[in-house]
Amino acid sequence: MDENRFSKEEVFQKLREFQKEDLTHRSGKILGSMCTCPHEVGRKAYAMFLESNLGDPGLFKGTQKLERESIELLGSILGSKNVFGHIITGGTEANIMAMRAARNCSNVQNPEIIVPKSAHFSFKKASNILCIKLKEAKLDDDYKMDLDSVMELLSDRTVAVVGVAGTTELGKIDPIPELSKICAEQEIYLHVDAAFGGFIIPFLKEIGYDLPDFDFSLDGVCSMTIDPHKMGLAPIPTGGILFRDEKYLDVMSIETPYLTEKKQSTIVGTRTGASAAATWALLKYMGKEGYTALSRNCMEITKTLAQGLKELELELITEPELNIVAFKSEKMSVDELAQKLSDKGWAVSISSYPRAIRIIVMPHIKKEHITQFLIDLKQITAN
Ligand code: PLP
Repeated sequence: MDENRFSKEEVFQKLREFQKEDLTHRSGKILGSMCTCPHEVGRKAYAMFLESNLGDPGLFKGTQKLERESIELLGSILGSKNVFGHIITGGTEANIMAMRAARNCSNVQNPEIIVPKSAHFSFKKASNILCIKLKEAKLDDDYKMDLDSVMELLSDRTVAVVGVAGTTELGKIDPIPELSKICAEQEIYLHVDAAFGGFIIPFLKEIGYDLPDFDFSLDGVCSMTIDPHKMGLAPIPTGGILFRDEKYLDVMSIETPYLTEKKQSTIVGTRTGASAAATWALLKYMGKEGYTALSRNCMEITKTLAQGLKELELELITEPELNIVAFKSEKMSVDELAQKLSDKGWAVSISSYPRAIRIIVMPHIKKEHITQFLIDLKQITAN
């Protein structure tokens, strides 16, 4: 440590210098991230609860109420208010918790989980941490979990099947009603990873988008991931894990002798209540109306982008089901195209299956950003 302390001014001056090197969502140049500018109501609520610790909730009873109400509100978006869970750090922690609950509910030796090939890499972490074998089901022609492949992989060691509602790379929705039927019949735990889709699918359905059921309205669904820090506009870190039954939390609970609550089911011990406050504030403030308008707008911009790409004769990997677009060019490799876009200041990402430029039309991306992006793309692909 330095001998000489900084003054407050020096500290913040230095911090600003560091921050200058960061990209900001506000620029509209970040096209490859599932995060966005946190809404001012979420920021303010978050800042109010910086001191609270949900790891010791007896000391923060109001914050604990906020967490309970947030879970109920998230449940009401996802087909049942009568759910149990926690506001946690994000999709990774939620998926690990769900797999832990599924494993602990069973007495199986050498447990296995079945996930689609398109599943987020957090399931690889869960598999590694929990010593569960991960089996990947094939995808069908539309990049959705193939049900025949699931049936082939099922065994008496299967402790959970995972379906994704809004895949990370292409925004596809797996056939959750069919998975629910299979899992309910065979008494297998079904987890739905709606980290991304949870905050957009329900609102698009409200305005007539023909999207499948994917939530607790289906009997077989035991747990769901939903991330307020993605399409929910909450500050990072804010994730949600919801369970149909309290028993799934109980099977993970560990005694906490010296704290105000005697048992804990979360992975993290000391944990912020600020995320719960932000979730609650945004759900109350945005309401169904606000999130529906946001979802509609993101989809309209997605359609403009997809249409523009077709006009430039770029190849769409698939018709977008949600606000994610993946494409490639015949004229150059995906890496070369990504590099040329980066040279013009665009931060796109590259999907792994199939390899393509991947754009997530998050709420910070406006029509004018897409117009400029298409102009730049035209120039790049003309040469
Ligand atoms: N699940 C899905 C479908 C995701 O797209 C992501 C992240 O993009 C995650 C889980 C992991 O979420 P986080 O990065 O918040 O841990």
